[in-house]
Amino acid sequence: MASDRIAYVYDPEYARVADRLPANLNRSSLVHGLVSAFGLLADPRVDVIKPPLAATSELKRFHSSDYVDFLCGLDERRSATRDANEDTDSAGDDDSDGVSTAASSDEDGLLDITYSARIRRRARYGLEHVIFTRTTPDGFCYVNDIVLATLAMRKAFDTILIIDCDLHHHCGVEAAFQHSEKVFTLSFHRHAPGFFPGTGSCEAVGRGKGKFYCLNVPLQTGLNDAHFHSVFRFTVDRVWDRFRPQAVVMQCGCDGMAQDPNREWNLTPAGLGAAVAAVKSRDVPTLFLGGGGYHHANAARCNTYLTSLICRSEPLDLHAEIPDHDYAGAYAPGHDLAVTAGNMQDENDPAYLEGVMAMVDQRLMHLEQD
Ligand SMILES: [Zn+2]
Repeated sequence: MASDRIAYVYDPEYARVADRLPANLNRSSLVHGLVSAFGLLADPRVDVIKPPLAATSELKRFHSSDYVDFLCGLDERRSATRDANEDTDSAGDDDSDGVSTAASSDEDGLLDITYSARIRRRARYGLEHVIFTRTTPDGFCYVNDIVLATLAMRKAFDTILIIDCDLHHHCGVEAAFQHSEKVFTLSFHRHAPGFFPGTGSCEAVGRGKGKFYCLNVPLQTGLNDAHFHSVFRFTVDRVWDRFRPQAVVMQCGCDGMAQDPNREWNLTPAGLGAAVAAVKSRDVPTLFLGGGGYHHANAARCNTYLTSLICRSEPLDLHAEIPDHDYAGAYAPGHDLAVTAGNMQDENDPAYLEGVMAMVDQRLMHLEQD
């Protein structure tokens, strides 16, 4: 049985760098501020862990040497350029500045803490969008922390299930493990012609030894909590019966929530929370990660609620009042934790979901049952 120990990875310097990601300016501080304001880190079972910087050799466990060397040289080149131009250019910060700092601090905390068998569940919220490859950045991120964390966890656990609930398909993660029968990749995502990143068809099932250890659950617009939960529970239950992971990595991107600028799905923290609770109830060591989420106040609300689910036996009330703290003004005018679903039509009707579930069963038939 897993212990109740929980590690939360945080460092002010890490947050300062993460806050500068152009797509998510200041989001890290907003999330951490709300998690702290609710007192979630004061629980005696929670250890707040400061991540050390990753070595470039650790980044190169997945990314190519040329790419990592280029990335890590950016700060130096920026600095040299700024020195040369300092008399003529006072335009202020450049978004690319700090890239290598971000890259080398983004995933390494995971590398260190995942070796500790004593720490059984982990919560961390940051930048880990899931769209990146070995040699080029894509989406909004520079290094693939999900892949690097999973590789580190494989030193302690033979089989790992990666579950991704972000609105977008986790193409970089899938590509990294498509040949592995030890890492099962499962992604729930919006899928349609022209929708970023374009991958994630249910036809992609892995390759070689990894064939059928990759499962994509493509979903339509308007996905609501009830339909998400039904397809999530069905699929995770079936995967668990066939794969029996020793550990889980769960990416909890919340860009599928109602009011997110993507305007594709209609989820609320309750829907994502039900998915987190279902995984937590499996009682295996789990690394919970953040992800997308571009309505920053709602991303903070959702991540805080999910953190309470992970850290406590009773989560926060979904309508809890926002405590007074430095960022309280960001939650006006509601000043509570609630994110309300909109009136978007859910195109994932019962017939569509039945088809998805039949596809899941059909794909998993290829794996031997325990
Ligand atoms: Zn996303």
